[in-house]
Amino acid sequence: MSRAEDGRIRRLTLRFCAVIAFGFAAGSPVAAPPPPKSPAAYDPPPPVAKIAAPAAEPAPQPSPISEKSLRLASGETLVGALIRAGAERQEAQDAVDALAKSINPRKLQTGMEIKAGLETVPGMKAKKLLTVLVVPDALREVIAIRNVEGRYGVHEVAKALTREQVRAAGKIDDSLFMAATRAGVPIPVLSDMIRLYSYDVDFQREIQPGDAFELYFERLVDGDGATVKTGDLLFAALTLSGTTHRLYRHAVGGGRVEYFDDKGRNVRKALLKTPIDGAKLSSSYGMRHHPILGFNMMHRGVDFAAPTGTPIVAAGDGTVEKAGPQDAYGNYVRIRHNKTHATAYAHLSRFAPGLKAGKRVRQGEVIGYVGSTGRSTGPHLHYEVLIGDKKVNPLSVKSPPNDPLVGKDLALFLRNKKDLDAKIAAAPITTRLAARQ
Ligand SMILES: [Zn+2]
Repeated sequence: MSRAEDGRIRRLTLRFCAVIAFGFAAGSPVAAPPPPKSPAAYDPPPPVAKIAAPAAEPAPQPSPISEKSLRLASGETLVGALIRAGAERQEAQDAVDALAKSINPRKLQTGMEIKAGLETVPGMKAKKLLTVLVVPDALREVIAIRNVEGRYGVHEVAKALTREQVRAAGKIDDSLFMAATRAGVPIPVLSDMIRLYSYDVDFQREIQPGDAFELYFERLVDGDGATVKTGDLLFAALTLSGTTHRLYRHAVGGGRVEYFDDKGRNVRKALLKTPIDGAKLSSSYGMRHHPILGFNMMHRGVDFAAPTGTPIVAAGDGTVEKAGPQDAYGNYVRIRHNKTHATAYAHLSRFAPGLKAGKRVRQGEVIGYVGSTGRSTGPHLHYEVLIGDKKVNPLSVKSPPNDPLVGKDLALFLRNKKDLDAKIAAAPITTRLAARQ
């Protein structure tokens, strides 16, 4: 929670406290009484005030009302936390009973923020519980307020969220993951980007120092500008060895959302070029551990070095032809995509649960995990593309683009693209995201 947000909640709580102060401690130094409304209020002050008025300046009275901020401890109940804040057990229970209309007191997260408004009553050890504000989730605040009869009413304040668009960019000096993190790109946005480029980019071999990226995405912010949630990735650009590959989010018929390159070609392809978690490749291994072997007559596949356990995904839709041990390949999966094309994955540490010959798999579905079984010198995925019976170089397989836009659809896309390009060009590149996540 940001400092600004924290301040806002404090002001909110104190506002409620001030309302209660009128009811409980009218005339106390905390708040001036409201403007008089009835003739009775014009009566002269009671004589006691005159007698009490001292000749010397009175010592300033400490305010009897205070606010205590605390967090729910592990295993602690909300009633327990309020007692810890100084409230009396029955009052804490009554306030929590009221809050239970809006929240489930048994399903609160450890560390949840609680603010208790308390009043010191002379001669009483426990404090009077005036307000209890809790923040059960990122979207709302719930407050219980004690009324003049001593009963608690509950109020819910929804945080007003606004959608805003953010531009982030960076040069890749070490790894894409680190460069994007430094630029303040939230991880879900980075994952989306890597997933979309996995059709065309080999994240092990094609990212080089000096490459660059740019992202334009949505986030939901509350009234104080704190990020509550990241939204859609609207645009991405990846510059690899001097060539920039751009992709745009675009809604096609029926509200379906797809990503297209600047010519209106869908980025989805029949086969993924990186059939493994690309974020992992670009973080822990990336450029520091170069691939073991490239494609050649002896090797006939490409290798992705990655930590044991990194998820491996089906490069395309298809049917599992084989899932089991296969000599030097170790644990091996082969997927048939159509009459001509199949892909194979070797040296797996284990298979995805339930994976066996005959099972249908979708592109991007996890089929197993990186390992070093069979003839292997270290954890990696050995990946092959087969056309007919022939093993071909996966890096040179050209899958035709999926659903290129034509006619009116293409014209609509190009118009949207032009609008988005103009918005991106006008947006400043942000650098302050990381601190706000
Ligand atoms: Zn290999």
